[in-house]
Amino acid sequence: MVDWNRIYRLLNDVTPLPVDCGKLCGAACCSEWEKGVGMYLLPGEETMFTMAEDWLIWEEHSTKDYEFCPTWSGVVYFVRCNGTCPRDKRPFACRIFPLAPYLSESGDFKLILEEGAALLCPLVKAGDMGILDRRFLSRARLAWEELIKNPLLKDEVIWESRRRDRLAGEPWKRLLER
Ligand code: SF4
Ligand code: SF4
Repeated sequence: MVDWNRIYRLLNDVTPLPVDCGKLCGAACCSEWEKGVGMYLLPGEETMFTMAEDWLIWEEHSTKDYEFCPTWSGVVYFVRCNGTCPRDKRPFACRIFPLAPYLSESGDFKLILEEGAALLCPLVKAGDMGILDRRFLSRARLAWEELIKNPLLKDEVIWESRRRDRLAGEPWKRLLER
C-alpha cells in the first residue's frame, strides 16, 4: 500500500527550478491551457483529499470509457482546479510535473521530461534535464521508486513507457528530430 503522506511530503518543498519557473511562462501549467484540462489522481491518492475541497472539481471516470492501463479497472478520479490551490494540498501530478517515469523493457527505471507538454512548458521545450534542480530530481526519483513498488502503478508506468516507445518510433517524430 502506498504511503501517500510520505509521497506528498517528499515533494512538498521542491520545485523544478531553484527559482519560480512560473515566471518563465506565466504559470502555464496552472492555467486552463485547453478547455476542461485537468489531471488524474493515481489510485489511492484520493485519500489525500476530502472531496469537498472547493478549489477542486471532481469527476469519476470509468476505466471502461477512457484509455487506461489494462490492469486498472473501476473508477479513476479526474480533478480540475481553478488555477489556485493550497500549495501543500496540490495533487501528485502537479508536484512531479514536468517529469514522467519510464521503465525500459529490461526494467531499468529513469525519469524523463513529459514530452507531450513541450508546447506548454519551457523546461520541456529546452529538453535538458540538467537544468532542473537536483533536489527536485532526487525527490521525484525517490517518490516514483516508492510508487512503482505498487503493482498497479508499476503496470501503468510500463504501459505508458511502451506507448512512449511506440510514439518515439513514429516517422513524424523522427522527422522532427533531424
Ligand atoms: S509550465 Fe513548466 S516552466 Fe511553467 S510553471 Fe509549469 S513547470 Fe514551470
Ligand atoms: S492544483 Fe495547484 S499546482 Fe496544480 S494546476 Fe492547480 S493551481 Fe497549479
